Amino acid sequence: MCGIVGYIGGKRAAEILVEGLHSLEYRGYDSAGIVVIEKSGAVLTRRTGHVTQLDEAVVAANLSGTVGIGHTRWATHGVPSEENAHPHSDCSGTTFVVHNGIIENHRELRAHLVESGHIFTSATDTEVVPHLIEYFLRDGKTFDDALIEALRMIRGAYALAILNTAEPDTIYVTKMSSPLVIGIGDDEHYIASD
Ligand code: GLU
Repeated sequence: MCGIVGYIGGKRAAEILVEGLHSLEYRGYDSAGIVVIEKSGAVLTRRTGHVTQLDEAVVAANLSGTVGIGHTRWATHGVPSEENAHPHSDCSGTTFVVHNGIIENHRELRAHLVESGHIFTSATDTEVVPHLIEYFLRDGKTFDDALIEALRMIRGAYALAILNTAEPDTIYVTKMSSPLVIGIGDDEHYIASD
């Protein structure tokens, strides 16, 4: 079981995400990471081991963005490592995904995507998701349609939170079997596995 957390609002997202990941530590994990959309683009910070490792890296990065997603990983596909820690992204570094669960047909999907020229940087089942979205975006689809097409192709259990750097005011969420809750506020919204 892993943890997903997300924040969109007016406050600095990084500290809220890390605090959320600390709250989800009880679920067990082997690595953790966040991505925050900064003015300069998406900034990814991932660490193996305890969330405190991430705390230090996030403080050092001094992120001021107000949108982000985070994850504590319990490895099912691919060893615990920084490369396999979430969030995962597509080739262009514009779509970022955190995932709880297992994509059962990841091998077939990865083979198809690699054949289409996608370059994977992790051994996870999760990484097929951002590449699959990118595959449909390259096909001319809108982000919404690309996501829907990607979801039609994946089998398994999942809670997914997705950021698209071209839409810095949006976090996409979707789930099948795995838990995910949405906290709706006046000027800010949260997502979490618990
Ligand atoms: N199957 C994914 C992985 O191994 C997600 C595991 C989890 O739920 O933390 O990265």
